[in-house]
Amino acid sequence: VDIEGRVRLVMESTLTARDRVGVQDFVLLENHNSEAAFIENLRRRFRENLIYTYIGSVLVSVNPYKELEIYSKPQMERYKGVSFYEISPHYAVSDNTYRAMRTTWKDQCILISGESGSGKTEASKKILLYYAVTCPTNHHMTTLGDRLLQSNPILEAFGNAKTLKNDNSSRFGKYMDVQFNFKGMPVGGHILNYLLEESRVVHQNHGERNFHIFYQLLDGGSSELLQMLDLERNPQNYQYLVKGSCSKVSSMSDKNNWKVLMNALSVLGFTEEDLQNLLNITASVLHLGNIQFGEGEEGETHITTLLGLQASSLSEALTHRKFTAKGEEMIIPINFEQAISARDALAKAVYGRAFTWLVDKINQSLALKDDMDHSNKAFPVIGLLDIYGFEVLQRNFEQFCINYCSEKLQQLFIELTLGSEQEEYTTEGIAWEMVPYFDNKIICDLIEARHKGIIAILDEECLRPGETSDASFLEKLEDTLGGHPHFVHKLANGKTRKVMSREEFRLLHYAGEVNYNVDFLEKNNDSLNRTLKEIMCQSDNEIISQCFSREEAATHFKNSLSRLMDILMTKEPSYVRCIKPNDTKQPHFDEVLVRHQVRYLGLMENLRVRRAGFAYRRSFEAFLQYKPLCPETWPNWYGRLHDGVATLVNHLGYQEEEYKLGSKIFIRFPKTLFLTEDALQAK
Ligand code: ADP
Ligand code: MG
Repeated sequence: VDIEGRVRLVMESTLTARDRVGVQDFVLLENHNSEAAFIENLRRRFRENLIYTYIGSVLVSVNPYKELEIYSKPQMERYKGVSFYEISPHYAVSDNTYRAMRTTWKDQCILISGESGSGKTEASKKILLYYAVTCPTNHHMTTLGDRLLQSNPILEAFGNAKTLKNDNSSRFGKYMDVQFNFKGMPVGGHILNYLLEESRVVHQNHGERNFHIFYQLLDGGSSELLQMLDLERNPQNYQYLVKGSCSKVSSMSDKNNWKVLMNALSVLGFTEEDLQNLLNITASVLHLGNIQFGEGEEGETHITTLLGLQASSLSEALTHRKFTAKGEEMIIPINFEQAISARDALAKAVYGRAFTWLVDKINQSLALKDDMDHSNKAFPVIGLLDIYGFEVLQRNFEQFCINYCSEKLQQLFIELTLGSEQEEYTTEGIAWEMVPYFDNKIICDLIEARHKGIIAILDEECLRPGETSDASFLEKLEDTLGGHPHFVHKLANGKTRKVMSREEFRLLHYAGEVNYNVDFLEKNNDSLNRTLKEIMCQSDNEIISQCFSREEAATHFKNSLSRLMDILMTKEPSYVRCIKPNDTKQPHFDEVLVRHQVRYLGLMENLRVRRAGFAYRRSFEAFLQYKPLCPETWPNWYGRLHDGVATLVNHLGYQEEEYKLGSKIFIRFPKTLFLTEDALQAK
């Protein structure tokens, strides 16, 4: 391989096309300090349907909002084993991560972030598809690839919904590990799910829908099935489906998706009984929403049957509350509003429980089968994170959790690409001028700090039921956090730009400001009363009978996020930063909107660090694997590793600005490393 020749070839083709299609790696942008040039480059590429652009190894993706001809199997084959700088960045992140996993045997992860509707879930599906299609397989393994892919329609049916921002918006967070054996075959998978937006089960904003499954069942289910579940086909008949005044989504067919779902469930090995239990629950949620209090108990009979409960226990539990006073158990009737809220709490809990069960079931199906491979349990994994993006649509508790999560991920990105990267240059003694950046740790602390963070204050308020209220929670927030630069409340000053009501507080998130209603207390307390929990535990339905008790919601979420961050920290990360080009779901580039995202995602800072930095590093030992390229010196060479590497790079013709030697070798451009790798392969 003629190293020099190939470098020249790539640079030339990039140059000639530059005016029209922009550069595919921002590092090559001439005016790299200019935000305008950055956005112009994105715009040109968007116009040419080139939606992917690199910042070094970070991939920036702009949602095209139209189908592109770039995801076909022949297209994927082109990428297999090809160095990622040679062709458009598309699929290269998948391939690059896979190679890194195979050459270093270290766990990798791909973190996909961006706001709602920016294309995260689509990107994650394409990455998974790439592995399923291009990785080596044997007869057994093909089914694992299929199962990995088929887990998507199941999770989407139960966990996605139409929102104003996205017709197929994920209303839960997902982290998926794919395990590979030493032949590079995918052999196992595992999914962790995060905070399903349960409130959607009982309420939808105008123009939004409930979870897809309800409409799919009503539209696609056979008449016999609907009869068995005692359902009517028209969604208008169900209170839980009419809140958003929207039962159809023009861009999708519920009927077809029902078929896709049924097929996926069978590929993943769900039994008839599993399916029955699942559909019974789905139907019972719809029936629950139609319960009228104060009338006959006819409606409840269906529900009790569907949920596998003792007759009459449900209506008793929905209209009474059990509590203990002075050691004695008392049962008192509750009022109309309390009954409605008990009913809604039950519907949410039942649905949420079913979703968790579904994920467990999928995990059983994806689990590494021991009998197939006895060699080693510690297979390397590639993790894929597709978690909710920052949102300003609602003001509720779940929105708060979603945005908190988004802050945490941004923190991780900053930490790894801007923070520790720059620190390392300093400690390695590499001449370095610090690139300043906004560190959102201050906002993470505001939310999660011990004792004086919002979550801690919330939990404390929840500990004293009866004595506390939404108003007292707000007061406590104001006392503790007033004056914090990212916390704004009504009393603070008259300068607040957006009008705020007395029941709100505002957080200045890294991605924008959001007002939250303070009705957090009930959401944080598991509002399902004891009687309801008890009767649910006695259900014949396997999914329902599992225990209902949980930690306080916000703390539970905080802990599971913190575990997620630990998981991610142990892996080599790659990033896909998704950008939403407009708010109207059209193939159109709204510059103002894009600029806002480029800013808060910290992409310019990212580019500055990348341009000046050395993104690729290898230990001296690892780099010396290339010594066969220098047969004049090796194998008859002995000396310090550092000197060996210096001799080798000299021989390979690395230019001075291309690399630095510290305690390991730092390499500025990926292509330098890949060309060396290719040369070794060709030998
Ligand atoms: P997010 O997960 O970030 O909320 P999605 O991945 O669900 O966003 O994307 C929203 C919608 O945008 C999709 O339903 C699809 O219509 C469109 N879209 C996203 N990425 C692509 C792509 N690569 N090609 C074509 N359409 C896309
Ligand atoms: Mg999504």
